[in-house]
Amino acid sequence: MAKVVKFGGSSLADANQFRKVAEIIRSDRERRYVVPSAPGKRFSEDTKVTDMLYRCYEAVGKGKNATAEFLPIAERFNGIIGDLGLTINLDHEYDIIAENFRKRAGKDYAASRGEYLNGIILANYLGFQFVDAAKCIYFTASGEFDADLTDACLASVLEGYAEAVIPGFYGAKPDGTIQTFSRGGSDFTGSVVAKAINADLYENWTDVSGFLAADPHIVDNPEIIEYITYKELRELSYMGAGVLHQDAIFPVRTAKIPINIRNTNVPDAKGTMIVPEAPENADNKIITGIAGKKHFSVISIEKDEMNSEVGFLRRILTVLDNEGMGFEHIPTGIDTMSLVVSTEELEAHPDAVKYINQVCRPNHIEVINDLALVAIVGRGMKEKKGTATRIFAALSHANINIKMIDQGSSELNIIVGIHEKDFEKAVQVIYDMFMLSE
Ligand code: ASP
Repeated sequence: MAKVVKFGGSSLADANQFRKVAEIIRSDRERRYVVPSAPGKRFSEDTKVTDMLYRCYEAVGKGKNATAEFLPIAERFNGIIGDLGLTINLDHEYDIIAENFRKRAGKDYAASRGEYLNGIILANYLGFQFVDAAKCIYFTASGEFDADLTDACLASVLEGYAEAVIPGFYGAKPDGTIQTFSRGGSDFTGSVVAKAINADLYENWTDVSGFLAADPHIVDNPEIIEYITYKELRELSYMGAGVLHQDAIFPVRTAKIPINIRNTNVPDAKGTMIVPEAPENADNKIITGIAGKKHFSVISIEKDEMNSEVGFLRRILTVLDNEGMGFEHIPTGIDTMSLVVSTEELEAHPDAVKYINQVCRPNHIEVINDLALVAIVGRGMKEKKGTATRIFAALSHANINIKMIDQGSSELNIIVGIHEKDFEKAVQVIYDMFMLSE
């Protein structure tokens, strides 16, 4: 039996956090493969080591002295080493890094050193083997994550060690150049390691006691979700709910390995289980969570007899394709079609509406801005009558006008488009309608 345990930056921000992490790992012998982030913030105004590294690399690029610029970063690591009473000395590593900064080894190389150094320290503290991610996590020459090569390589390397620390966030291209995943990418590394060793569980330790049913900046003290399926999580994180990197479920999903979100500071809390299917007795809530985002626009298109005009949608999609422009939803009426896009995307393609007009010749086309989307997600809404009614009732009582409605055929979510000014209120009233009454 083996568990992969990933610890986020706040869980490893200083020696005290390291002690908690070691206690968690030592309390369960199945916690054998550990994926650390770089040290995060110790207090709210603090700077994450990853950000310090980006800045340091930039400063060296502008002619500053690499060794001097790297000193505050070295001091953070030395502080942890000293406070833990370890005897390792990383001066040689710091010299190599400063030298590589001088040689302009790349921004990704720079950022990855936080995880690399933290991994060495954690492995030393735990007495585990350190396995450099550059030797077993791979990208292709063009920079795509190479899942097959990584899987095979990680599996064979880790087979040789009963316990190991594999730093998160980075890997290497075939020529050895270091490349990172996007920010927060250690979550992805954890998932990749869990898949490679076919772990029984991937524990993701952070500083919250699980996935919340709504944004705590909007809803006071929202419930912690006990079970969430991969699909529900995907919908919620796509719509802005944080905690886990949005790609982190993909590697473990194919292998059906559950992810358990846990809190390093409250280790006894059960956290949230992310599972392929929720167990029968999980909970019978209709809604699992609510998430949403602002800054969307709608390109609203009207044309007489649009519904019988073959190829109408294809022509619109061809314009988007040619422009390289993504879209979010396309709710349609009989002779109307709404193209929901992020406002940012629309601004990046200012001629898109003109081209759509040219190829579709509609009676009317207009752009409506300031739209917010709210996604109400829950496996419990499938074949349950009245869910939409309750959402609309909640919004109507709050005097919120609904501009768009979209429900996927999987009946896993209902998305409503409203004016941005109503966003927070909408999330609150929908939360109250479902969470407080069940
Ligand atoms: N340290 C990296 C970041 O700050 C990666 C991670 O923490 O997952 O984004």
